[in-house]
Amino acid sequence: MPHAVSRLRTARLARASKPFLARGGPRNVRCAGCRLVPSHCMCALRPVTPAVNAGVCLVMADIEALKPSNTGWLIADVVADTYAFGWARTEVEPGLLALLADPQWQPYLVFPGEFVAAERVVTELPASIASADGSNKHKAKRPLFVLLDATWPEARKMFRKSPYLNHLPVLSLQSEQLSRYKLRRSQRDEHFCTSEVAALCFALAGEAQVAETLEAYLDVFTNHYLKAKQQQPLDLEDAAHQRLRGLRL
Ligand SMILES: [Zn+2]
Repeated sequence: MPHAVSRLRTARLARASKPFLARGGPRNVRCAGCRLVPSHCMCALRPVTPAVNAGVCLVMADIEALKPSNTGWLIADVVADTYAFGWARTEVEPGLLALLADPQWQPYLVFPGEFVAAERVVTELPASIASADGSNKHKAKRPLFVLLDATWPEARKMFRKSPYLNHLPVLSLQSEQLSRYKLRRSQRDEHFCTSEVAALCFALAGEAQVAETLEAYLDVFTNHYLKAKQQQPLDLEDAAHQRLRGLRL
């Protein structure tokens, strides 16, 4: 079955009053599995990750699911428990409310802490692994990272105009963690894409392999995406591909 972001994209396309034309034009046929042109398809490279404890709930701005560059899609490829809902100012999907109320999950809204009252902000997560004597095993809720998948101005609007998110603790990524990440990734841009934010969340939750897989998979996607745009051939033996392959075992 197609994953949640794929289903949301299909539903959004069906609602479109005029056909959505991704850059490159209508003749640019794209693979349904990865949204790339067939010559640069990366479906065969989709990671197989071991059991993941935490989940991801993507609340996506209207047009986000349609963008071929959207990286929420990559999260859904890697993390089995990825949910995706379209955001609208005037209504909320019942499935989203049900998910947030599901007792197996502890939802965290991932957003910069400077925008909310201090008592709502958390910067660490309870250890996801049960204590040695197993006493936490049945009590620990699974973290559910609620990510606003949107441009930054859209995300701020969504944050302000979604009262059903107001009761959630806000997981604020710390500048120290962010700058360490940037340094390691030699990233010059201030902006983090959604799958990078997810990788940072999984690292905080102690799920390092998932975090690394998300990072490596994003690098491979970026590589395929840009090479396709520039109409250049792929190099499946470059550093990004080798790193992703190395994580598959
Ligand atoms: Zn594909």
